[in-house]
Amino acid sequence: MKGKTIGFVPTMGALHEGHARLIRACRSECDIAVVSIFVNPTQFGPGEDYAAYPRARKNDAALCAKLGVDFLFFPSVRDMYPPGFSTYVTVEGLQDCLCGESRPGHFRGVATVVAKLLYIVMPDIAYFGRKDAQQSVLIKKMVQDLNMPVTIKVLSTVRAADGVALSSRNAYLNESQRSQARVLYASLRLAKSMIDRGERRPAAIVKAMRKLILLAPEARIDYIAVVDALTLEQVARLRGKCLIALAVRVGGTRLIDNIEVKI
Ligand code: AMP
Repeated sequence: MKGKTIGFVPTMGALHEGHARLIRACRSECDIAVVSIFVNPTQFGPGEDYAAYPRARKNDAALCAKLGVDFLFFPSVRDMYPPGFSTYVTVEGLQDCLCGESRPGHFRGVATVVAKLLYIVMPDIAYFGRKDAQQSVLIKKMVQDLNMPVTIKVLSTVRAADGVALSSRNAYLNESQRSQARVLYASLRLAKSMIDRGERRPAAIVKAMRKLILLAPEARIDYIAVVDALTLEQVARLRGKCLIALAVRVGGTRLIDNIEVKI
């Protein structure tokens, strides 16, 4: 391995084109491409979908082989959390807002498992998707705060032809719900067009997005937020780099999406 660059893509499996984009970037930019597949129990709250989360080990392994992955790391829960495990990573200030508000403890689980995976794999570059924008902001902060010698690259969201962000959780949606899921990106596009026309008031943007989303009969809004892209703090007025982020339940499935806007 000496003198070679190691690239790493951590995932929870049930791989789709969003993951594949990260893996391709990793493959083309690094000498050694490592992918991990681990459905991490510590990032799921009680009553969440840990047990139901799609697992597709064979297909995932075949896709990784096809994409030229050198090492596929498939740890067991016991490998990652042996009895007596008691050390957790918390990224204060970034973990309790947005998704952290309705999923308490989620980002503590994410930061902990990503820290462990980075220490195990020791990559030069680790790849994350912008679809999980809060996660990527938090991981960048953790790496900076803990002096981890790794570059974090964040790649844009891969979408289906109708705009829906690819997600392993889309597998939970029935046909009607899959069609209703289009309101997430439609509302983000609406926000973008309002901003392009000069709107700078988050409240006006959120109100218009809310109205559009609630046209989908099974949509229940968890949050819609306009935040600073670095601090994730709500902004009083759009300026600089902002993130428009939302989480919406469609039926029983919680979906997230976001766009970044530069004023
Ligand atoms: P997951 O398996 O859902 O934990 O995702 C593993 C990595 O893939 C994370 O960095 C995600 O942000 C990224 N990812 C998931 N879905 C997409 C997508 N549609 N586009 C780009 N990256 C994605």
